[in-house]
Amino acid sequence: MVWSSSTRRARLPKDWARTRRRVLRRDKHACTNEFSDGRVCGAPANQVDHITPGDDHSMANLRALCAWCHARKSATEGGRASALTRVSTARPRETHPALEDGQ
Ligand SMILES: [Zn+2]
Repeated sequence: MVWSSSTRRARLPKDWARTRRRVLRRDKHACTNEFSDGRVCGAPANQVDHITPGDDHSMANLRALCAWCHARKSATEGGRASALTRVSTARPRETHPALEDGQ
């Protein structure tokens, strides 16, 4: 996988998948990013962001973001534009395998 080289991903806790789902549900699957003019993004969110980057995986430090806002924030934090491409390549397949055959 492309993102397997990221140390940030490697530090995620074992129950991250469950935590991630809880955050998305709490934030109603809507992006919580607030723009500089005070508006909230509100786009459908499928990413969970650490508000303060690091090892704090508590609910208070996590929020739902859409792919675009998360990529933008990650790019700012890491100072690398590569975060933008990482998001799109790491996105899980949304088509159910059973739907791909016999159509
Ligand atoms: Zn957003």
